[in-house]
Amino acid sequence: MQLSPAQLQPILDEIAARARATEDKGRVADYIPELAGVDPDQFAVAVAMPGKPILIAGDAHKPFSIQSVSKVFTLALALGKVGDQLWQRVGREPSGQAFDSVVLLEQEKGRPRNPFINAGAIVTTDTILDGSTPRETLGALLRFIRAAANDDNIHYNESVAQSEIATGHRNFALAHYLLSHGNLANAPELTLGTYFHQCAIEMTCAQLANAGLFLVGGPEAPRMVSDDRIRRINALMMTCGHYDGSGDYAYRVGLPGKSGVGGGILTIVPGIASVAVWSPGLNRYGNSKLGTEAMQMLAENTGWSVFL
Ligand code: GLU
Repeated sequence: MQLSPAQLQPILDEIAARARATEDKGRVADYIPELAGVDPDQFAVAVAMPGKPILIAGDAHKPFSIQSVSKVFTLALALGKVGDQLWQRVGREPSGQAFDSVVLLEQEKGRPRNPFINAGAIVTTDTILDGSTPRETLGALLRFIRAAANDDNIHYNESVAQSEIATGHRNFALAHYLLSHGNLANAPELTLGTYFHQCAIEMTCAQLANAGLFLVGGPEAPRMVSDDRIRRINALMMTCGHYDGSGDYAYRVGLPGKSGVGGGILTIVPGIASVAVWSPGLNRYGNSKLGTEAMQMLAENTGWSVFL
């Protein structure tokens, strides 16, 4: 259902007020030292609709670490570079496992289940890195995101990247495991250096909602990938975008979304809007607790769903 800005703004204000009043805000990710100190008492929502002014509520101009939401953009770039060949190296099935799990990688001989769990995202980053340097690859990724958001003021946070390089032992384990199965084209430290910097990109909710517009489709949305690819990326976000909480998000929100442990979620309402929410406290799946609750409330109040 198309809603006018005047109908949507009070809904967003109510969502932000509800989030502020909620006592249980979840737990901030503490396995990345730089993220452990983020104030959990922050909330923002932004709704971008093609050809309309952006709508916001809360701290929507405060930058946060987008973390795994970046995997949507690297997937778009990887598909642009190698097309369906990507699926020889990574699958398209939900994993039902934690985001950083090594379990299935062992069982499935080094072919990660999907491009949104860490192992699969490392392969996707390795794909866009192949043939260029980490600096060039990050430059291309930032250019893509800035063009999508129509905003040049988007950068990565070097301290967050260094914090992950110093403590990302599981990701190193995943990369070495991939290498042992011949599923890593570059040296682990090069692929992971690129991966950690991509996760350390900072954006505001307003920037992220704008950056997601290319996945909304329709005549007024920015055209960065084909319609066919939009459908496929949205399908993967719906089935795999929230790790082992993907089914729960589909049930509660009914829209394709991608979360990150920084507390951001990008959600696409096909043909209508791109929505970003941010609240740093996470639920047990590692997805933003208040962000998920806010998206459920938004979906219920707008009737936005891909299912009816
Ligand atoms: N940089 C994080 C990691 O690899 C991303 C995880 C996430 O956002 O889910 O551990």
